[in-house]
This record gives sequence, structure tokens and C-alpha cells, in this order.
Amino acid sequence: MQRKPCEPIQIVQTPAPGLVLHLPADMDAVTRAFVLDNVEALTEPLLPWGRFRQPVLLQTVADAEALQERLVLPSHAELRAIAALDRVVFWPPADPDALRLLLVHELAHVQCFQRCTPPHGRVPYLPTWFREGLALHVAQGRPDPLARRPLARHRDLALLPNANDALVARDPIATYALAAHMFTAWHDRFGTVGLTGLYAAMRQGHPFATAFQRACQQRLNEYVELWLAAVRREAKTA
Ligand SMILES: [Zn+2]
Repeated sequence: MQRKPCEPIQIVQTPAPGLVLHLPADMDAVTRAFVLDNVEALTEPLLPWGRFRQPVLLQTVADAEALQERLVLPSHAELRAIAALDRVVFWPPADPDALRLLLVHELAHVQCFQRCTPPHGRVPYLPTWFREGLALHVAQGRPDPLARRPLARHRDLALLPNANDALVARDPIATYALAAHMFTAWHDRFGTVGLTGLYAAMRQGHPFATAFQRACQQRLNEYVELWLAAVRREAKTA
């Protein structure tokens, strides 16, 4: 589904720093109207998380199959959207609240990618806990503390922070719950300074683990192990 170069793109300014939305001519009309009516609500949660560096194209597809066709690698997860450096391709849910959450979540991914990708480089690898945890935190705020305790007894707890596509597909609830909790705990400790330092090191070309160590003065593996140990301990004392 290649877009013809002559098709006009609607350009939408937003209050989020550096964020300009591009809406293609073939965008689903209901979704276009929703985006235009809700620019403030869609971008307000992104304001504290830094500056976008390039416009973001919002492309709708008609079903899950059309979305899968847009992937570089096939996925087993039940995908609703794909976020890249300069675009979000999504299958819009009919429910307006679900659509708003989905768009904020995906725009949070794009914002993160634009901040951590080296100039002219490709989006670097980000562990699942960080990538999804950040987007969940931006779109939905702090996770429910009660959702943290059951994680301790998850049989794949140690695998969840770096969950691959198969594990995400098998257990999306636990993967996402862990990501939300782990990112929130990390951000509580390292804050905007940690995030800015991490992104700066990644933009210089350092992989996530090296950037993490520079920004947090701690080895990534060690941080993950200590966090998992704390979750296990907490469940025992419950
Ligand atoms: Zn996501």
C-alpha cells in the first residue's frame, strides 16, 4: 500500500514541543476527525517527556492483517499499531477512549525513538521493560501497585524484562504489567536527568546497556536483578 507522492498531506501543529502531525489523504475519516478534535488531549501527556525531532505521519489500516503486512518481521502478538521513527501505522479501535490511549502510547514510542536514535541511524534496541514501560507510563500514568505483587510468582519472571515477541504474545498482561512497574520504579529513582543522560549516550551511538551504565552509574543486568529480587522479597513478606 504505497502512498502516491501527489496525495496531499494535512499538517497539524500540536502543543507538544517539536511535534507536527501529518495526516495522509487516505486516512480513515472518523479517525481523522477524532485526531483533529482532540489534538490537545492527545499531546498533553507527551509534554513533560521532551522534544520531537521530526514530523509524525499517522497512517490508518483497515484490519489486523493489513497491519501485519506492514511489519518487517512477522509478529505473533495481537498488534494494534506499529510505531517507527517518523510514523505510527494503526488499526483504529472504534471506542474513542481506546483510540486516545493507543495514539498517546504510540506517540510516546515515537518520541522516545526520536530522542535516542543517532542522527541518520536506525532505532536502537530497547529492552521491553523500558520501551513498553515508558509508553504505558506516559499514556496511563503510574501503574496499580496491586498489579505488582502477582508478578513475583510468574514462572517466567526473569524473562519478562527482556520479553521477546513470543513471550509478549503468550502473556501480554504480565509483560506489560512488569514493564509499567519496572519503568516507573526506574524513573522514580533516576528521573528526567537519568532519561536525558540515557538518550544522550544512545544518540552518540552507545547501545542501551552502555548508555544505561553511563547514565545510572550501575550495570543494567545488576539493576534488573536487584529489581526482580525486590519484587520476589515483597511477595514473600505479603
Ligand atoms: Zn507499545
